[in-house]
Amino acid sequence: MEQEYDRFSREMDARAVRDAIGEGKKYHIVVYGCQMNVRDGETAAGLLEEMGFSRAESREDADLVLFETCCVRENAENRALGNVIWLKELKRDKPDLLIAVGGCMMQEPGMAERIRKMYPFVDIVFGTHNLYRLRHLVREAVEGRRGIEILGEGGLQEGLPAVRQSSFSAFVNIMYGCNNFCSYCIVPYVRGRERSRAQEDILEEARRLRDSGVQEITLLGQNVNSYQGGGAAFAELLRRLDEMGIPRIRFMTSHPKDLSDELIAAFGSLKHLCGHLHLPVQSGSDRILREMNRHYTREKYLSLVERLRAVRPDIGLTTDIIVGFPGETEEEFRETLSLCREVRYDAAFTFIYSPRQGTRAASMPDDTPAAEKTRRIEELIALQHEHTASALASQVGRVERVLVEGVSERSSETVMGKTSRFLAVNFPGKADLVGSFVDVRITGAGRNTLRGERV
Ligand code: SF4
Repeated sequence: MEQEYDRFSREMDARAVRDAIGEGKKYHIVVYGCQMNVRDGETAAGLLEEMGFSRAESREDADLVLFETCCVRENAENRALGNVIWLKELKRDKPDLLIAVGGCMMQEPGMAERIRKMYPFVDIVFGTHNLYRLRHLVREAVEGRRGIEILGEGGLQEGLPAVRQSSFSAFVNIMYGCNNFCSYCIVPYVRGRERSRAQEDILEEARRLRDSGVQEITLLGQNVNSYQGGGAAFAELLRRLDEMGIPRIRFMTSHPKDLSDELIAAFGSLKHLCGHLHLPVQSGSDRILREMNRHYTREKYLSLVERLRAVRPDIGLTTDIIVGFPGETEEEFRETLSLCREVRYDAAFTFIYSPRQGTRAASMPDDTPAAEKTRRIEELIALQHEHTASALASQVGRVERVLVEGVSERSSETVMGKTSRFLAVNFPGKADLVGSFVDVRITGAGRNTLRGERV
């Protein structure tokens, strides 16, 4: 399909849409879920602008509303569907409104069919493998047909346009899909097997971003450590990006089982690699980790943390934790708490386990009452608050380089930015600082953020 959709067809589709919609039509994109979806949303915006649409601030002002859906968590899925239904009302007053739904939820078995039958007001449906076909699907819709297409697998499509959300910080996809099949996770089913972009294509994209003034890039992949077959290859990519001179390089997400020696060493040697690593642990219990199919033990994980801190003592670690995995006992949950006490994460994204249909864990017996799972997660969150508070307090008195991301919602005289360690800092300043680096002395720590003053 990819080869068939050549440059000529793409241009013909874009031109046909431009001719059909005329001037002044607007789009609005709603993104659910992870950074990969945010990046896909930027590509969708680029494609739509190529077709002659311009950006609308709200869905009420738009002629085309696109939902980039997520199926990793049940509540994101419910929210997305609820919002699609809400648009039906909008379409009653505005019959020409085009509604497009894409993203990984559409790759779930039977979902596209369900949308076709039960949501007749939806004009365009696409999945994770054919975003690049959006021009064709929009053309179908503006010509009065429903543009519904889901592909079972995908290759890589280079050179797609994008409208970046930020002029100074950019996401760069380096790979797609996942081969790991963690027993609770739907991603390998909906995003397909791993496909890595060619190193030269990534470097070229990074070069263009650097030349346009981008100060920070975040490399994205479901498991960046298996970029083209292993952590060593990923470390090599990081080394080449480091030489390019973009001030800050970050990446996510990193599977502990594939965190190579080379990658750990990179945290000690690369000048531009930020002092932060998101390293999802999921559980502190070996038995639960086995049931999750994670392929590392608690001991192995802790030894990675030790080695990372040996090469970069001030590295900030964050993580993901699932509470109440099927069969998790109180004792096993306590092992997660004790692991958190050992690592002392800067932040943790904590979730109560929710079954995703089609995964192995969804058929595991689960007799822990919901109230008990809630109690557990509350205990974990309370512990994490303590660790976050002490990580923030440890920064007071230091001078940190902060990349300013925006003006505070509370005051136009205060700006917010991040340290290399990914800690948020508020300090006095105005909008003209956004996108630049400022040296800030940390003067205080709140619950989730730091306070500071310009040096
Ligand atoms: S590594 Fe595991 S949790 Fe992460 S995307 Fe792949 S299957 Fe899902």
